[in-house]
Amino acid sequence: MDFLIAGVIWMQAAWCGTDDFVGQVDPDWEFRRLLLEGAAPLIESQQRTNQPSCTPSRYIIPVVFHVIYSNSSDSISYQRIWNQMLRAHEDFRRIPETAGFATGGADTEIEFSLATKDPNGNPTTGVVYWKYDQPPLNWTSPDFCRETQDYSMKQATGWDRSRYLNVWIVPRLCTRSSSSSPCNQCNIVAGYAFFPFILDPISYGTVIGSDYFWGGPYSRGMRTLIHELGHNLNLPHTFNNGCGGTNCGTTGDGICDTPPTAATNGNFSVRRQNTCTNDNPDLPDNTRNYMDYVVDADMTHFTVGQRARSWAAIQSSSSRLSPLVRSIIPQQTGTGAYGRVKAYFSASQRVGCPGEPIQFFSYSMGAPHIYEWSFSGGIPDNPSASCPTVTFPAAGTYDVQLIVENQSGRRDTLLKQNYIRIQDTIYNLPYIQDFEGAVFPPLDSYIQNPDGGRTWDRFRSTSSPRGAYGASATSMRLAFFSYSSYRESDSWVTPSLDLRPYTGSSPSVQLKFSWAYACLNFEGTVGSYNSYELDYIDSLRVYVSTDCGRTWDLVWQRSGRALSTHPDGCIVARGSVSSTSHQFLPSSSQWATDSLLLDDYKGQVIRLRFEGISGWGNNLYLDDIVVDTLPSLSTNLRPLSPIIRAYISDATLHLSISTDLPNLALRLYDIQGREIWRDSQGPLSAGTHRISLPDDLSPGIYLLRLDGGQSTLTLRYWHAP
Ligand SMILES: [Zn+2]
Repeated sequence: MDFLIAGVIWMQAAWCGTDDFVGQVDPDWEFRRLLLEGAAPLIESQQRTNQPSCTPSRYIIPVVFHVIYSNSSDSISYQRIWNQMLRAHEDFRRIPETAGFATGGADTEIEFSLATKDPNGNPTTGVVYWKYDQPPLNWTSPDFCRETQDYSMKQATGWDRSRYLNVWIVPRLCTRSSSSSPCNQCNIVAGYAFFPFILDPISYGTVIGSDYFWGGPYSRGMRTLIHELGHNLNLPHTFNNGCGGTNCGTTGDGICDTPPTAATNGNFSVRRQNTCTNDNPDLPDNTRNYMDYVVDADMTHFTVGQRARSWAAIQSSSSRLSPLVRSIIPQQTGTGAYGRVKAYFSASQRVGCPGEPIQFFSYSMGAPHIYEWSFSGGIPDNPSASCPTVTFPAAGTYDVQLIVENQSGRRDTLLKQNYIRIQDTIYNLPYIQDFEGAVFPPLDSYIQNPDGGRTWDRFRSTSSPRGAYGASATSMRLAFFSYSSYRESDSWVTPSLDLRPYTGSSPSVQLKFSWAYACLNFEGTVGSYNSYELDYIDSLRVYVSTDCGRTWDLVWQRSGRALSTHPDGCIVARGSVSSTSHQFLPSSSQWATDSLLLDDYKGQVIRLRFEGISGWGNNLYLDDIVVDTLPSLSTNLRPLSPIIRAYISDATLHLSISTDLPNLALRLYDIQGREIWRDSQGPLSAGTHRISLPDDLSPGIYLLRLDGGQSTLTLRYWHAP
């Protein structure tokens, strides 16, 4: 019941109480903010990348929690606080394979570290408990009034602001709407924080109501601390100052890579909306930023620009943050290298090949200086490095374990079982993948889904439209229509393919594939705000790797209307989108096929990667991926006939013809050029057909010649044993 009541109130009120309160406490805050932010654009221009890198935490900020409690129900245990600190580390470091990872987000390289030494140098858990009605507080009620009690609480309990960032958890957080109103609006504001340019250091830090802390009863709570620490790092709300003006660096939230947003998105679910059109390119609101108000589970990231703004604040000598990152601080407060440790790691790839190096990245908390890795037979270049490069000599699955230790002597162990899979199977050409098999992803291929959310799936429909190319029933799909974020990346990687036999100029090696896609053109309204019309566009990219996925060459890409195979380009939705009316399911004519030569990769073993990048648009389908040599036996072959498209799977010819054919002659030749079978079909109407081929052939390579009179096509066909 509490949840429903609170949900209704949120429709009118902010759950983060930072915006209205900062100005009350410090009227000149805007002026100092501008002074302090001078360096941010320069830093931002220097750091565009959000790729994983072997970077220890650049800044470590000591934190102490003050839990003000009335009874066991509003007191927050050490374990809950520690769990929240781990989540903060995962979110601020954007650690792969945790909830803090988002493809489009940034690793801020900032770490918050729970103090293990108090201001007198004595041991502490980093959590201090204060009874609300006892000295030094002596409150008459567990209800804490932000407007009247903020300063006195902080003054009475806070630790040295030049060494600790103070976080307070109060039993019940209450506010008032004006100075003459009673302070009786409780559990509406979840928390509030001060920016690092606040005039009086006593005020600096974060305050959170106990119900809105990690493990509390509300859908907001997991990340109240993450959001408020963002304010402590000088990050405004993404919707502050609305759409702003023409200069994204000085208007709006002052950060150029957070798209301008008219108002908070928190009162609404995560969905497509574009409330400001003054950005170029015009991007939809990115509702999943930690500095918006969306429910905590849907928050996914900080941006590179937000990282730059945080770094500028830390580096500014007039900031409340700068004293906290002095070199003496870790030893004094028992944080960083002198604090608690927690092992985290990830790898550059989870699937590899024998002898091809894979890099491992430590994201461990607590600035460890000792790393003890074990790779179950993998051979590291340096087993005590923070980011070793490892080769695995043979096929198999491998456990990986990391033990870390820091200057305090504390150790932590992380074991990931069956973490690395090494494959030594290399496929001969032709490689044909039509996704008709029941196993998905198909044998020896794999999916890269770095955020762990939605990804490529096997889509099967036997009713019309089938959602698959030609007469087949199954394709591979990215259901972008159902995504709730953009910039998510999902890849499907083929098995290793053997191009070593092909070294001369002839024959050519070709990749051919079919896809279907429509973008989404959407205009809606969000509360009282307009959501402007926008094409929500997704992308498909194709890459080739000659080192088993370590590096990739981009060889093909299309996005949005250029990728669309729908006659209207984008499917148009107004007001709202419905999965029945606007979700793209292609008919047999709404497919496209393209091909490209892979001759640059002849003589090598390659893998292909098909990457979809979400733009929050509409579904993308992929089918009939063929890597083969181009037939070169006959001079009048037209392998990319505009009229006949075909492929062979399971002794069946899958045929798609664009116009009616009076007759189609079929002739099958063996590799010596001897005709071993012939058939004639017709008349055939435009559309898709399936024709059975003889299934009593001995295993081997055959050529099937299709002659439709004005158009011919020759297919190379591998009959499996
Ligand atoms: Zn806020």
